[in-house]
Amino acid sequence: MPAPVAQLDRAPGYEPGGLEVRTLSGAMIFQHFPSGPFQTNAYVVACKNTKKAAIVDPSPKSFKSITAYIAQNQLIPEKILLTHSHWDHIADAAKCKNEYNIPIWVHPLDRANLESPGADGLPFWVAIEAASADHLLEEGESFVIGEIQFSTIHTPGHTPGGVCFYSSQERALFSGDTLFQGTIGTLSLPTAQPELMWKSLEKLAKLPPETSVYPGHGSSTTIGQEDWLPRAKEFFG
Ligand SMILES: [Zn+2]
Ligand SMILES: [Zn+2]
Repeated sequence: MPAPVAQLDRAPGYEPGGLEVRTLSGAMIFQHFPSGPFQTNAYVVACKNTKKAAIVDPSPKSFKSITAYIAQNQLIPEKILLTHSHWDHIADAAKCKNEYNIPIWVHPLDRANLESPGADGLPFWVAIEAASADHLLEEGESFVIGEIQFSTIHTPGHTPGGVCFYSSQERALFSGDTLFQGTIGTLSLPTAQPELMWKSLEKLAKLPPETSVYPGHGSSTTIGQEDWLPRAKEFFG
């Protein structure tokens, strides 16, 4: 494995790579929509059998693609899951919520920036509509998307309320801006807490190596490919 590269989050013009979809049972279907100035990956994750779906991180200008995909596949969106509340991950949350009348799930420590965008001290590049949080996620919380089991892993560091959504059933992790292919979410923002980030990355390093990782920006990877994870502090500290 090559050494991890410099932090790529929020680099304008950053080209997202391909996303290789691997699921164990085939019960999960999903699509990603890189959108907005930072090509933030919005995802629609769905259960093939029940058609029930979740929208993950509705990024700027992802609304049209998300709703088109949901309509084409006759999906039933049930919730909006936020890996964190940076503006490029929440921009179209209010639109999606209003369209489907579904709740927004977020960790309590990232709630403020959803409900009053800009509360986290970051300047945003596009207008962000506020939305209320409807469900507050907890570390270890289990939930389902149709017949697919997920659990919530609290991964503070990039933001205090950062979370990853993990399905051991499908060996899939939606990692937000905690982990990217070859790098991590930036720690140079006011929301960052580097010491917490190293602990969060150690948690992710314990997942099975074959776990596919679908990040908030850029290409997919696997936990096994990111073999530097337990030593992240050496590279990024
Ligand atoms: Zn972020
Ligand atoms: Zn981001």
